[in-house]
Amino acid sequence: MGKNTDNAQHRAHGAQDNAQHRLYSAQDMVRIRSSECAGCGACCRGMGDTIALDPYDVWQLAAGTGRTFEELMGAGIDLHVEEGVILPHLMMREDTKGCSFLAKDGKCAVHAYRPGICRLFPLGREFHDDGVSYFIVPEGCVKGGLSKVRIGKWLGIADLPRYERFKGEWHLLVQRLRARLAAEPSDEVRRNVNVYFLQTFYMTPYGGAAAAGGTSAAVGLSVAGCPSAAAFYEEFAGRRTAFEAAVL
Ligand code: SF4
Ligand code: SF4
Repeated sequence: MGKNTDNAQHRAHGAQDNAQHRLYSAQDMVRIRSSECAGCGACCRGMGDTIALDPYDVWQLAAGTGRTFEELMGAGIDLHVEEGVILPHLMMREDTKGCSFLAKDGKCAVHAYRPGICRLFPLGREFHDDGVSYFIVPEGCVKGGLSKVRIGKWLGIADLPRYERFKGEWHLLVQRLRARLAAEPSDEVRRNVNVYFLQTFYMTPYGGAAAAGGTSAAVGLSVAGCPSAAAFYEEFAGRRTAFEAAVL
């Protein structure tokens, strides 16, 4: 069984997962180490390939930067294999070990459309059969003091209940795919399934003719060819159904 948590930076900073950690919902208030970013870059370095990107993350990055998945490949994102499944991740620079999107001023150049794991920090996310819970990562911003925040507001994601449902659906799909590939004896079939997976959920842009010219409600973008968040979820659901019927 694969991991049931999202907290890449937590692991990058060497903290231990704590099975006893207290869990929260998006409506809860928590005290976390946070601040207006002072641009030290400390929380955006040394993550290796641990910040895996889901289709929502890639859709947001593509809409925000105006680049396709292919154009982002090698210019911010790269691929790795995680328990048999090929997934994209945020690429670290060779020289600084910092994220490719970390600007010279030490701040995030894609802040408005940064990936979900970046939005979480300094929180982690845990998946259950009945939904998503959050927990506090001990480190947090090295420049920040303790502040009280509501988790849902901290994440800053439009229609959070729908996003949480998407995260649960995506988590389950990847879990099932891992199990399917682990039981598959043929290298060729495993390779082909992974290529189909990447094409279905990442390489094929979201936003067909019907959605062109929409607004990304999550980040307030208005980009030609960019679907609204609602259209993204609808399109994702169609792709998920087709993929599950073909592969799982
Ligand atoms: S540790 Fe804090 S100040 Fe430094 S880059 Fe991260 S958020 Fe900004
Ligand atoms: S995308 Fe932005 S917030 Fe996330 S690791 Fe890179 S620079 Fe940091």
